[in-house]
Amino acid sequence: MARESAKVNVVCQHCDRVYAFAPEAVTTACRCHHCGCLLFVGRPLSLGVLQLQHHIRQSGIPMLAVFWSPAERACQRVTKELTRLAGSIEPRMRLVEMNLKAAPALATQMGIRVLPTIVLFQHGRELARASGKLTLRALDEWTAGVAA
Ligand SMILES: [Zn+2]
Repeated sequence: MARESAKVNVVCQHCDRVYAFAPEAVTTACRCHHCGCLLFVGRPLSLGVLQLQHHIRQSGIPMLAVFWSPAERACQRVTKELTRLAGSIEPRMRLVEMNLKAAPALATQMGIRVLPTIVLFQHGRELARASGKLTLRALDEWTAGVAA
């Protein structure tokens, strides 16, 4: 599919600048040249709605977005485990968490009816989604399956 010479875009979560890396150069040590921060931080990114759209469009790395709400009990276990998940999937994927209580319009926009819902994006497109109670182990297996 992708040619070996193809670059992979990585978006900085702080300043939203986009960097193109050779695939083998994408590591957790990559930094943003503008703000100096690490591009992979070992925890889920918390993005604003516009920022999310930018990252979905620009990121060459598959992005796993978890849509949740603190009002939903089913979300509590999953969100607790997200940090561990981020550590295990970076840098081949990045993890984003979207609190729908803070951005209620996003649920309609994304067609989300059950929380938590986890959506995998790449190159601006939705590749897969899963909803409901998910354990870290189930998530690990799911991400391994959809990214294979
Ligand atoms: Zn930056």
